[in-house]
Amino acid sequence: MSHSTLHDLTIKKFNNGLRQKEFSAFEIAKEFFDYINQKDKEINAYLFLAKDEALAQAEKIDIALAKGEEIGDLTGVPLAIKDNILIEGQPVTAASKILENYKASYDATVIAKLKNAGAVFLGKTNMDEFAMGSSTENSVFQITKNPHDHLRVPGGSSGGSAAAVAANLAIAALGSDTGGSIRQPASFCGVVGLKPTYGAVSRHGLIAMASSLDQIGPLTKTVEDAAILFKTISGLDNYDSTTAVTDYGDELLNPKLENIKKLKIGLPEEYFISGLAPEVSKAMDSVIARLKSLGIEFKEISLPNTKYALSCYYIIMPAEVSANLARFDGIRYGWRSDAENLLDLYKKNRGNGFGKEVQRRIILGTFVLSSGYYDAYYSKAQKVRRLIKEDFDRAFQKVDVILTPVAPTPAFKIGEKSGDPLSMYLSDIFTIPVNLAGLPAVSIPVRQATSDKRQVELPIGFQLIGRHFREADILGIGQYYEKLD
Ligand code: GLN
Repeated sequence: MSHSTLHDLTIKKFNNGLRQKEFSAFEIAKEFFDYINQKDKEINAYLFLAKDEALAQAEKIDIALAKGEEIGDLTGVPLAIKDNILIEGQPVTAASKILENYKASYDATVIAKLKNAGAVFLGKTNMDEFAMGSSTENSVFQITKNPHDHLRVPGGSSGGSAAAVAANLAIAALGSDTGGSIRQPASFCGVVGLKPTYGAVSRHGLIAMASSLDQIGPLTKTVEDAAILFKTISGLDNYDSTTAVTDYGDELLNPKLENIKKLKIGLPEEYFISGLAPEVSKAMDSVIARLKSLGIEFKEISLPNTKYALSCYYIIMPAEVSANLARFDGIRYGWRSDAENLLDLYKKNRGNGFGKEVQRRIILGTFVLSSGYYDAYYSKAQKVRRLIKEDFDRAFQKVDVILTPVAPTPAFKIGEKSGDPLSMYLSDIFTIPVNLAGLPAVSIPVRQATSDKRQVELPIGFQLIGRHFREADILGIGQYYEKLD
């Protein structure tokens, strides 16, 4: 077997190969570790490798299969996991100094489900500290490179997961998305990224950033793989009271063309603006033309409150961040500094344990929640959030799915925006409204026109947004888009 076997290995192909006995789960897991050792020196996608555990897991699966146990969709599939998701006994740092050397004491619900399905965990991937950022430059440990151009960022905050999949260092990965952190890195790295409906996937065992916005979701090479992973990790969980019963039946994995053709797609005027990079506009035109060729109808729509989404998010998100991160005091767990007295201990632990961006958001969040400013900021932002949601409700009376760019530009250069938080925040302008409304959305790589193949082009993703719990619509369209020549 050679590294090239790994290059076009999807969940689906791996599953076929395992069934045909072309390889064992152990052989593939071992091959991944060899390749990671060689290649991740350039990319820096992983923070931690779980080689012994993964190989033992894979071996156990091979033995069970040899005894005649049935193969499921995810049996033996090697996955990369964002380092804010807990795997019992393994380090989990959220790429922060404050959690350096901390080990998880239980499995996140998504991990328990994947373990049950027989998946193998290769390791934990790099991210922006506590998932705050859009470039993975906010990690305290390392800078992850975009596999398509090492001078550029992979996006963020799930940059390590997106880069791992794009560089064939895992078959698929999990990330988390609070304002775009699965979709934007998927777009920058040329992979598929799904942000599920709020409540479709349990957040139990995800280190919380902003609890009313966070969702875990898959990063994969194909839309079909995203559907397979999503199906396994979604559903009701007693440990997360915001989860719902989900039953997608056969629709997720076997969408019918006759149903997909009937879906109407809306194009919101507020998202097709002059600030888009020309290559992004061009890419969107090509996607629309391809989807029209499937027989899908398009309609212009308006989401008038889009202009308030970023400011609304940068009040609600930090408010929740300030509450969620209060627990990291360096006393109960994680990194602890020397100090003279208790106050000094808190100051040093939090002042040195958290990075700049995290501190900025905690301070901002504490301010908007303070009694004198609560009504002026936090309450008002909640009302604006409702208006944004209602825009989508109205649009979904006219159309079934909404198509937009994922980000205004392709991947930017490392260092280009890290000194200017506002320009960094703007890269999530098309993904944030979706989290505020709790809707499902997927980022799918635009297929580059064959005539452009001579130039090396940076990947660009398009976003499909669906109604609540209608992942089947967006993934269905995506699966047919993928099949087009
Ligand atoms: N980039 C956005 C932010 O910095 C979104 C982060 C996320 O989705 N976790 O908040």
